[in-house]
Amino acid sequence: MAYSKSTIILCNLTEVSPLESHGLYNLGFTCYMNATLQCLFSVQTFYTDLLRQNSLLRRMPQSGLLRCFSALMSSKNQCRGEAKKLLQRRVKDAVSASAVMFSGYSEHDAQEFLNHCLVQLKEDGEKLVMAGEELQAGSPGISLSMYSCPVSTNMDFQLQYKMTCTGCGDFSVRQELFTMLSISVLPGCSIQDCLDHYFKVEDIERSCNKCSGNSSTLALKFRRLPRVLILHLKRFGFDPLQGVNRKLEEQVCIPSCLSLLPHCSHYTQPPCSLDYSAETALNPGNMHSCQLSEPLKENRPEKGIEEQELEEEEEELLRISVALSLQDLNHIDEDSTITSTVESEEGSSAAETGELCSSYRLISLVSHLGRQVSTGHYISDVYDFLTDKWLTYNDEKVSETDESAVQAERKCTGYIFFYMHKKAYEAVRQERTGLCMQPDCSS
Ligand SMILES: [Zn+2]
Repeated sequence: MAYSKSTIILCNLTEVSPLESHGLYNLGFTCYMNATLQCLFSVQTFYTDLLRQNSLLRRMPQSGLLRCFSALMSSKNQCRGEAKKLLQRRVKDAVSASAVMFSGYSEHDAQEFLNHCLVQLKEDGEKLVMAGEELQAGSPGISLSMYSCPVSTNMDFQLQYKMTCTGCGDFSVRQELFTMLSISVLPGCSIQDCLDHYFKVEDIERSCNKCSGNSSTLALKFRRLPRVLILHLKRFGFDPLQGVNRKLEEQVCIPSCLSLLPHCSHYTQPPCSLDYSAETALNPGNMHSCQLSEPLKENRPEKGIEEQELEEEEEELLRISVALSLQDLNHIDEDSTITSTVESEEGSSAAETGELCSSYRLISLVSHLGRQVSTGHYISDVYDFLTDKWLTYNDEKVSETDESAVQAERKCTGYIFFYMHKKAYEAVRQERTGLCMQPDCSS
């Protein structure tokens, strides 16, 4: 593919660009991708975690998702027209390379796309780590920065399953890692109710090794909490009575805050702390001190001049974006000292019960409009930390909204929800807006 330099339009990155330039183009039934990406891009901690590793990312093949993804994320609000379309296409192509179902131009399930995207970002990171280790093993003199996966740091969480025999009390425990939780629609309820229902203790059939009894209970708890909890509301399903796929359009209330407290126990670990190193944050240029003597293995043909130019511009965009982003976030490592007004007033009892570690704040959601599974349209509503405003992304159209309007209008269409751990939310928000915390999320 030839890239024309004339299609690349770079604006002054230090200016906040007008809203309309924040949208993503519909390349032909790609609203599922656009709505999903806008939500992911808006997770400020994820954004920073990814872009601060810019120098490592540049060792990836240019077609790798990790690299295409960060290129689009960092320059989305600054470039437009063909340049942006090209970056979007590269993300789509990179996902399609391992999930061929997304290669054409037809409507897809946003949750399936999100899932593939997160899995692939993780796998790309693992490849980067492995290649780095190989290189280091071959040349013991080199010191390498370790790649830290922003998906793992932000979205991963661990659940613990405990099966207990109702006869003799013998139990077994296993743990599983997730990046997203799929919860069932409970009509007329809230996301909190649907989540609580998922964690309800179940009676199951299981033969006990000790007493040969047949009945057990299955209890679920969070073993480790995520920084950002992604919830997928199962609105699409197969209706066995009618023999067709059906969309559930029941109302489900969308609370501003979620509490995971009932689903935690004394062993539940908090999310990864926001540990931006001061040195790196103050001087993003330092990140380039990670020395790789040669680029990691790249499976691509030789680059033409135009492609090289594009790559250089991409690198420049990344460099400036990461500098801006880190400028804003370089004090966040003090998160452990940040408490909201409400929490301070409640004193230490809340901290002791673990309440502080279990509240989550709504930051974005993907909605599916339309009645059919195979048709319809995806949009997203996103809290913008920078401007302290809610935005509705409808492909290239971007408009201002507010949280109460989102909560009222998306009851029947809300599909994927992003909730950020309260401490991370407040830390980012405080840095971004310089405002006091809203005491509206105390449980
Ligand atoms: Zn038993």
